[in-house]
Amino acid sequence: MDSRSQSGAHNEAAFASLGWEQLVAARLQYYRELGIYDFYRRDVASNVSTPDKARQVETIPAITSVPVAENMFAAPKPETAVADRAEALKLIHEDLGECTRCVLSRLGRKTIVFGEGNANAELMFVGEGPGADEDEQGRPFVGRAGQLLNKMIEAMGLKREQVYIANVVKCRPPGNRTPEREEIETCSPFLLRQIAVIQPKAIVALGAVAARCLLGLNEPMARLRGRWFDFRGTRLAVTYHPAFLLRDPRQKKEAWKDLQTVMEYLGLKPRRAPESA
Ligand code: URA
Repeated sequence: MDSRSQSGAHNEAAFASLGWEQLVAARLQYYRELGIYDFYRRDVASNVSTPDKARQVETIPAITSVPVAENMFAAPKPETAVADRAEALKLIHEDLGECTRCVLSRLGRKTIVFGEGNANAELMFVGEGPGADEDEQGRPFVGRAGQLLNKMIEAMGLKREQVYIANVVKCRPPGNRTPEREEIETCSPFLLRQIAVIQPKAIVALGAVAARCLLGLNEPMARLRGRWFDFRGTRLAVTYHPAFLLRDPRQKKEAWKDLQTVMEYLGLKPRRAPESA
């Protein structure tokens, strides 16, 4: 028995001797030690509409908090005591530590990619997970897809330093495979805490994995693009992942339409023609 399964067996024995309230409290304490503070129920939206040009805001309860956990046992997250957003992000980063909470930490990860950018950003991009270049450098979107994302950001009239960029998972999945559900569920609470601290005006989910994680919807891209979602009071738009655009550059026009809608909402003027992006 390795130390992980020994401590698992120890926990099981300890839990077995508790009443239900103590049991829930102990379980919550256990999750807090893992850095998990919020508990969510993923709702499946039934009111999915066809994309239209007007891009109406649809309020879909993407991830619903379970009030029992919050009311009875909630412990304040470390970052909530801090007003400065950059400081608050540092606390989340410290809480993440040298994370070994999921298997990605044992599958060849070199560096944890926490996310980077302006802690007071109005616009936040969320990708899927680090690739090889990001894993080497510990920074999100620094490879080829990242260079295209930089161009997209600049075409929107922004500098990369003005936005915040993060991923659904913070460690590279082996062979750049799609992160698995358990990995996403373990890692995404840290992303949600980053979003809660930054409070961007708009979020752009890059690709279906990021969109599905944030919205709790299992929809194809065709039904995710072309409309606004409400993500806990923040507008969220979905566009193609830059890696997909590298494979199918004809779709850049469509991605530009998505970004223009975001720009309109944020009052941004394009810096240059998107064709060069
Ligand atoms: N692809 C992603 O989804 N994220 C990165 O950081 C890099 C590539």
